Amino acid sequence: MRVRSRLWIVPVLAALVAVVAALPALSQPAAEPAATTSVAVGPGRGSPSRPEATGVVLAVHGGAGTALRREDTDARTEKAYRDGLAGALRAGQKVLRDGGGSVAAVEAAVRVLEDDPLFNAGRGAVFTEDAGHELDASVMRGSDQAAGAVAGVRHVRNPVSAARLVMERTPHVLLAGQGADDFAARNGLPAVTQDHFWTQARWDSLMKAKERSRGGRTPAVGAEAAGEAAMGTVGAVAVDRGRDLAAATSTGGMTNKMAGRVGDSPVVGAGTYAKNGTVAASATGQGEVFLRGAATATISHLMEFGGRDVASAAHEVVRERLTALGGTGGVIALDPQGVLAAPYSSEGMLYGYLTADGEVVTKVFPGE
Ligand code: ASP
Repeated sequence: MRVRSRLWIVPVLAALVAVVAALPALSQPAAEPAATTSVAVGPGRGSPSRPEATGVVLAVHGGAGTALRREDTDARTEKAYRDGLAGALRAGQKVLRDGGGSVAAVEAAVRVLEDDPLFNAGRGAVFTEDAGHELDASVMRGSDQAAGAVAGVRHVRNPVSAARLVMERTPHVLLAGQGADDFAARNGLPAVTQDHFWTQARWDSLMKAKERSRGGRTPAVGAEAAGEAAMGTVGAVAVDRGRDLAAATSTGGMTNKMAGRVGDSPVVGAGTYAKNGTVAASATGQGEVFLRGAATATISHLMEFGGRDVASAAHEVVRERLTALGGTGGVIALDPQGVLAAPYSSEGMLYGYLTADGEVVTKVFPGE
């Protein structure tokens, strides 16, 4: 309010921002974002000059968040997360090896993560404030920018498959709520009752978030409020032999979210984007900020209209633009040549990738 009443400060701030933006040193990973923000930028990887990996055909993420910490993660937990990511990569690999396209590959990878209770998508999804589960998912095909999504579904076992059906069998992009559940069931997707998604760990997280909300004016929402190591949203990006790109994202949203809240994951251009020639990207993080920042579409636009490479574009969006809007998270972004960027501004992000020669790499600790 004080800033608004002192309008003279606006041009001064604008000039300062312009000067800061012109300093190349400040665009390095450790730099503070130019605009004022209270968000602490973590040690996320992916500097403009350094992509995460090359020769990649498929990558997955299992959410950004406060991160698994080496010092307090036992070997079994570490293995379970690595196995989950690797299993998803192998499912996608099988599709690609059998000559399947990138859309089928990302769907197969995401389905595995949706069925894994460790991740916040499908089984293992977080709880809403009224102790329900409302799931969001989307998929996008780079060859023609076709897309499909579902939001707030309560009974679809694999929301990513419902998203693909919306893309392939309807004239629409996004179906929400009961209509989306009905559409999925009518098209033969397995329907489950809400208890399919239930896990003790997510229930405990909801209780923690409720506890933290007590006495506060607004409810505590999300992984941090719930003491969770990772938000656990899942996503996949792929490039197939025809150089066609695809991306998919699936989530239960944020712990203790309001009933009816929809995040970035089912929104094309925010949580998911794929366009041949530029990028396939899937995001995880504070959905409201990824929506406001049009996160994944901006990566594509920076590449298409700004001539930027995938690492520099993804880095700018995640570590500069979104942090300036007050949000943290990460993306996996793959270009048609197989260059993968995986920057994050949260403490950590779970992710992994598969190279063209069959190498599977998983990352579960910050800075790994
Ligand atoms: N972006 C997701 C949402 O806001 C949450 C996440 O990535 O963990 O729904």
